[in-house]
Parts: sequence; structure tokens; C-alpha cells
Amino acid sequence: MEQTLSIIKPDGVSRNLVGEIIRRFEQAGLRVAAVRKLHLSAREAGDFYDVHRQRPFFGDLVSFMTSGPVVAMVLEGPGAIAKNRDLMGATNPKDAAKGTIRGDFSESIDANTVHGSDGPQTAAQEIAFFFARREIM
Ligand code: GDP
Repeated sequence: MEQTLSIIKPDGVSRNLVGEIIRRFEQAGLRVAAVRKLHLSAREAGDFYDVHRQRPFFGDLVSFMTSGPVVAMVLEGPGAIAKNRDLMGATNPKDAAKGTIRGDFSESIDANTVHGSDGPQTAAQEIAFFFARREIM
């Protein structure tokens, strides 16, 4: 059993895709172990994406992630990290396969609808960023 962090980004929330995206997770055998809607501050978004702080797109990334509310959740299931990444599709929607969340819904590399942890260590860090232990069922 594995846990991963998923975020439905502002474009997914504002286009009312929360239910459709969670349906895809559940249909693939993932379980929502924790969920919360929140509006990130610039400091929070910057800290979450700290690894990208020196990249040229960092400012755009923070400004997009703070442009509206997001839905953060912990997904749980066998191979949850890789399964979530498969369901998401490639980072750039131009490269994302049809049938993936980004391939079906995303408009640009900034507005790419979902975030998912990329490994066990980042999953643990990212889950702790959003949720206390007692909030994860
Ligand atoms: P992810 O794990 O697939 O979300 O990709 P990364 O962790 O590499 O990047 C985090 C987020 O930064 C991505 O989801 C994109 O929204 C954004 N991003 C990554 N690379 C680029 C880029 O080259 N240009 C722009 N504008 N945004 C990028």
C-alpha cells in the first residue's frame, strides 16, 4: 500500500472538474484518504515548489497556483505514486496522451490541471505539507 499527494490545480477547480478527476482516481483503484480545498498564498506555493525556485518559470508557476483555490488530497493504493502519474499524463499537455487527465483537459504547461508526487520521498514531504497525520484516514 502506498500514498501520494495529488493537487487539482486552479484550472481544474474553476472548470468544475473535481468530481471527474476523483472519479478517474477511484476507478483506477485509488482511494481518497484525505481531501481539502484551499487557496494557497504566494509563500505557500513558493515553498511547495521550492525545488523549482531557480527555474525561469517559477514566477509563472507561483502566480498560476495562487490564482484560485486548489483541492489537495492524499491518494492511497498499490503503486499509488506511479498510478497517479500515469493517470495525469505528461507535464506538457501537448505531449500528454488522450485518456490522461492532462491530455483530455489541460490548456497549457502552466494550466496543466493536476500535480502528483514523483517519488516516495517527495510524496511523504508533500503529504506532510498539507495534512496532519490525524487528517489522513
Ligand atoms: P510535474 O511533476 O509533471 O507537475 O512537473 P514538474 O515537477 O517538473 O514541474 C512542476 C510544474 O511546473 C509543472 O506541472 C508545470 O506546471 C510547471 N512547469 C514545469 N516545466 C515548465 C516549463 O518548462 N515551463 C513552464 N511555463 N512551466 C513549467
